Amino acid sequence: MPKPRLKPCAQPGCPELQTETRCTEHRRDNDRYRRQFGSKASEPRDRARRKATVDTHRAQHGDWCPGYGREPHASADLTADHIDEVSLGGDPHGPLQTLCRSCNGRKNATRQNRVR
Ligand SMILES: [Zn+2]
Ligand SMILES: [Zn+2]
Repeated sequence: MPKPRLKPCAQPGCPELQTETRCTEHRRDNDRYRRQFGSKASEPRDRARRKATVDTHRAQHGDWCPGYGREPHASADLTADHIDEVSLGGDPHGPLQTLCRSCNGRKNATRQNRVR
């Protein structure tokens, strides 16, 4: 069996050598960072999923916003957003909800106020 090659830790300035990209400590840091802010690699897929959610909504309801904190109303400026905000601990792969841009903004503002 060949001996595993040791690599320096990917964290600049860290002297640890191991077979993984990062030493145990920095791997943990990196995981935590990714959980908190999401990995860049998942963004394009997420955008496609948002678009698909809006497309489906539009096919079913037309240019119609279900409303957030107000009555449902017509709107051509629809966006899909996480029902549980990812920035507030929601699952990045969790369900999406279609609202117009201004209702979505209101939803985010309301949630952030509630957390604070
Ligand atoms: Zn390290
Ligand atoms: Zn709206």
